[in-house]
Amino acid sequence: MEEQADFPKEITRMSVDFDRWYTDVVRKAELADYSPVRGCMVIRPYGFAIWEAIQRAFDDMIKSSGHENWYFPLLIPEDVIMREAEHIEGFTPEVAWVTEAGSHGKLDQRLAIRPTSETIVGTVMRKYIQSWRDLPQLTNQWCNVIRWELRTRLFLRTAEFLWQEGHTFHASADEARAEVDLILDYYRQIAEDWLALPVLTGTKSRAETFAGAEYSKSIEAMMRDGYALQAGTSHYLGQNFSRAYEIAFTNRENVRELCHTTSWGISTRMVGGVIMGHGDDRGLILPPKVAPIQVVVVPIYRDDESRARVDAFIETWEAGVRGMGVRLHVDRRDDRPGDKFNHWELKGVPLRLEVGPRDVEARQVTLSDRLHPGRDEKRTLPAMALAEDLPHELARFQRELLQRARDFMAENTFEVQTLAELVEHFKTRNGFVWAPWCGDPACEARVTEETRGVTTRNFDLDAAAEGACLVDGKPAKHRVAFARPY
Ligand SMILES: [Zn+2]
Repeated sequence: MEEQADFPKEITRMSVDFDRWYTDVVRKAELADYSPVRGCMVIRPYGFAIWEAIQRAFDDMIKSSGHENWYFPLLIPEDVIMREAEHIEGFTPEVAWVTEAGSHGKLDQRLAIRPTSETIVGTVMRKYIQSWRDLPQLTNQWCNVIRWELRTRLFLRTAEFLWQEGHTFHASADEARAEVDLILDYYRQIAEDWLALPVLTGTKSRAETFAGAEYSKSIEAMMRDGYALQAGTSHYLGQNFSRAYEIAFTNRENVRELCHTTSWGISTRMVGGVIMGHGDDRGLILPPKVAPIQVVVVPIYRDDESRARVDAFIETWEAGVRGMGVRLHVDRRDDRPGDKFNHWELKGVPLRLEVGPRDVEARQVTLSDRLHPGRDEKRTLPAMALAEDLPHELARFQRELLQRARDFMAENTFEVQTLAELVEHFKTRNGFVWAPWCGDPACEARVTEETRGVTTRNFDLDAAAEGACLVDGKPAKHRVAFARPY
């Protein structure tokens, strides 16, 4: 009861209004903000640092398997982007065009601002691909794209966003398919090992497939409101783009063949996933591996004399802890300790160390952690061992956060057999709901219509489908997960 008074007053509580909680946390924790441009956001340093941690981790993974970073132009000539019919049809409603420029006036040809770069990358790469010796080409670029959106949401859906887009070119279908799976597994690792978010990995339905792809695979994470977040996609493009852009090579038998290509991406949307996939009434909870600040130190003192002693004591171990690679921040502001606690809890810092005059005498610090903010969970750690102990405490926190998310996902995963059961379920709850499905898009559309927005997320790759389609009773082809998506 007393705890209630402790909740930060700046944010709506998650349990009261999830949507407002999300927007409040993004803005009050200084992750991102609205901008003068409708649909575009400003990413502030605290939010950008999370994106940078994701970038570093993923960039290391792709480099380790031979991928290289390139940079391709932001603008795509109209005749280039128009060449793959299905692709442009899928993207047309969201493409922004440059039609005039400065003193040149109207341009001879419109230029699209990239919504994604398959078309320009393909057009460029065919120059570098002559023979089987030039393959595979494993390209990636870190960049921004624009997809005109009116219903926007900070990080989750904005007209401009940052991402990486991989584009690879292979001599055989098997090799390209293996690439799709390799990247999907990297995405799973980023989600689970770095962001502490368990995910479903699987293949998308035709309706949810990337425009121009043979098939798409995705990772789907569960947010704390039970909605699904598609957090990364990996596409097998077959020879669709090679045909449209004449990306061909001479094989070992000296015969011309079209390349098999893939594309894949993760974006700043993942930062939104970290916020919504963890967090509680007090604000953010950040996984230590991507937290800009992992440990915050709050000095506690009564007067200038005790302040000097506390500061001097912190200085005896501060550098040693940093030396172990721990991202540590000492909050020396003049605010009351209670206000500082709320501030850093809202910002999701995993560990907090309180240091008062009594701690100085005992050569110790008092540790509390963001997952167990209750007072009785506090422990003391000897100052001498901090450099060694804190990395272990952070690793423990990372594991517990992943387990918390796994438990939540398990508690909110269900199985139904009929459309009536599914509709009934989504009247009162969310979560992932598995059901047998025949594969007919009409059945899928019927589910979305009757539930007002529930869609298929992806197919279970491990389980064979059994039973009858939940909608029309035909033999099931897939065991598929349904959810309300972001
Ligand atoms: Zn069916």
